[in-house]
Amino acid sequence: MIICRTKEALRTEIKTKKAEGKSIGFVPTMGYLHEGHLHLVEQARAEHDVVVLSIFVNPLQFGPNEDLDRYPRDFERDERLAMEAGVDLVFYPTVEEMYPDEPSLAIHVKKGTDVLCGASRPGHFDGVATVVLKLFNLVQPDDAYFGMKDAQQVAVIMNMVRDLNLDVRIVPCETVRETDGLAKSSRNVNLTAEERTEAPLLYQTLQEAKEIILTGEREADMVRAYLLKQYEDRLSGNVDYVELLSYPDLEPIKTIKGTVIIAVAYRYSAVRLIDNIVFTLNEG
Ligand code: AMP
Repeated sequence: MIICRTKEALRTEIKTKKAEGKSIGFVPTMGYLHEGHLHLVEQARAEHDVVVLSIFVNPLQFGPNEDLDRYPRDFERDERLAMEAGVDLVFYPTVEEMYPDEPSLAIHVKKGTDVLCGASRPGHFDGVATVVLKLFNLVQPDDAYFGMKDAQQVAVIMNMVRDLNLDVRIVPCETVRETDGLAKSSRNVNLTAEERTEAPLLYQTLQEAKEIILTGEREADMVRAYLLKQYEDRLSGNVDYVELLSYPDLEPIKTIKGTVIIAVAYRYSAVRLIDNIVFTLNEG
């Protein structure tokens, strides 16, 4: 497995692979790898000659009071896991390598950012789109793999690819969970023992909400009220948001129909967790 720390080294490797006619599957991450990331790698591995994984905690997508400093990092462990998973090339740049100068332009995501994490993390998706575009330009992947745990991110990136005519296919991959249902996340290590015990209720309650819809409830407000009440009664942190929206356009809905996302963001003492369920109501 090759490790590139500079853009130049990465470009040289990519050029060689492309000249050999090899296809490239790309998995961008912030590291501290878990089975969610490795699931993306597995899919890329199955579909491509070369799998590139990037590890970069992108400061641009963190707000001033967010957990940039607390974000877990362990490159040696990541290196081992990536190698075992069959990654061919790891791109592991420094912040200076990715953002050497004051940029002359900025990427601003206009659509789909007045809801969910876009609303509660101002500027977050501008930072995500910027780094992903820069990474796409360096890696030049055929396909890039993203997790549906970050469903809004998938929607934002797909829109960017369409808007800017990028020559890459975005492959959404399902959320990988712990056996108790908690979505795998690098941030889970920052939960206290007590928080970790109750955190699976985040997803369980989303499933209950889905069940309520499948058995006939169609009013988004009713389902949202149910979720808020359950989280209030059963969990010890604070709801950041609970929203029901159409997916992938992320428009507010009154009546539940078609494909919808039920999404939650929840604040604990040192960590904010997100989770969601996307499903389609097949009604004539
Ligand atoms: P991150 O390192 O958290 O920025 O995540 C990198 C990529 O892995 C993103 O596309 C995430 O959506 C995806 N990812 C993170 N957690 C999971 C999970 N539990 N299941 C599937 N994909 C995930």
